Amino acid sequence: MGEGLGSKRQIGDNNLAIAAMKMKKVKARRKVREPRFCFKTMSDVDVLDDGYKWRKYGQKVVKNTQHPRSYYRCTQDNCRVKKRVERLAEDPRMVITTYEGRHIHSPWHDVDDSNASSQLDFIW
Ligand SMILES: [Zn+2]
Repeated sequence: MGEGLGSKRQIGDNNLAIAAMKMKKVKARRKVREPRFCFKTMSDVDVLDDGYKWRKYGQKVVKNTQHPRSYYRCTQDNCRVKKRVERLAEDPRMVITTYEGRHIHSPWHDVDDSNASSQLDFIW
């Protein structure tokens, strides 16, 4: 009896050691931290118009939901901002958008231009 308990405990310790090693590996692999920005929006559209152009480069099946997670990258050269879009599992009406990194340029839509057109709309 005593022996049985002892061997069980040993197995447990080994598992712990392996887990610790794995964690260390992940930490070492991590690169410089990019600033992250995440928000939830209630929307029918997955990709919200944020003024930037995005190119989809990946998709991943998410457990507990039929909505896949999509990965986008800014189309601007030298800009390494990434965007992750997924639906909330508990409430698929909600879109979770996560930005990683900072744009090194201004949005594609000219701010002054859009202002002018909305003013015109008002006059008409
Ligand atoms: Zn960008």
